[in-house]
Amino acid sequence: MPLADATIPVMDRGFLFGDGVYEVTAVIEGRLVDDAAHLARLDRSLREIGISNPFPADDWRRIEEGIVRRNALRNGLIYIQVSRGVAERAFKYPDDLQPTVVMFPQFSPVQDNPLTRTGARIMTLPDLRWARCDIKSTSLLAQVLAKRAAAEAGMAEAWMTRGDTITEGASSTAYIVTQDGAIITRSLSHEILPGITRRTILRIAGERGLRIVERPFTRDEALTAAEAFYTSASTIAIPVVDIDGHAIGPGRPGPVFTQLYTAYMDAVMALTDV
Ligand code: PLP
Repeated sequence: MPLADATIPVMDRGFLFGDGVYEVTAVIEGRLVDDAAHLARLDRSLREIGISNPFPADDWRRIEEGIVRRNALRNGLIYIQVSRGVAERAFKYPDDLQPTVVMFPQFSPVQDNPLTRTGARIMTLPDLRWARCDIKSTSLLAQVLAKRAAAEAGMAEAWMTRGDTITEGASSTAYIVTQDGAIITRSLSHEILPGITRRTILRIAGERGLRIVERPFTRDEALTAAEAFYTSASTIAIPVVDIDGHAIGPGRPGPVFTQLYTAYMDAVMALTDV
């Protein structure tokens, strides 16, 4: 239906409690990027918070394809949100709730981000999030505050820290490349979202014989890295040229980033379009 006609009840628990999960999938030249993995992560997020998945993966896929076709969406994003449903406002909820599903397209061409060419300036700040960052929860207040702080400082992204180490970006996975060429990114745990773009980038890096080390890395290590970059479905991959006012590497996209980005885009274009 037209976006202006779409409504949700005020008593929806997604609205009142942030009681829901979401997914964001990129559409590039009509191709749904890493779609099966996004739908699998949605299923996992739903299971982790005890909402039954309203559709099997094939039906999700068909609905997504319908959104792509009916909106002539060649380049942009598909947003999916599933909340627990509508009930009297109380923390405890009835067992028989019908989940609310909201899906819409966004028409921002992810692959035309000027930051891919220029590199991004980013800042670090403390990670204020809860203890289950592996669930793609719609409760995003800590990230909203981090993004606002970054925007006020004129920065493209915020990398969040727990103690000395970087967890991840406010809406992205964080990586550094050491002076001897190893790609470092934090290993999966409850402290970070298992990025779908991360999964593909690490596969591509492995196929190219690049050295990958999954471990926490410190802010100090990031400041002295040869390269740094971040990934997400909505940005693909963005090189970092400055962290907290310290120049990183040569101040332009580095060779490891460029190799991975090119290979990622080649892999996307090899997918069949909807
Ligand atoms: N980490 C966080 C906190 C995110 O919000 C996101 C994406 O929005 C990512 C990582 C990257 O995940 P993906 O590559 O699946 O988009």
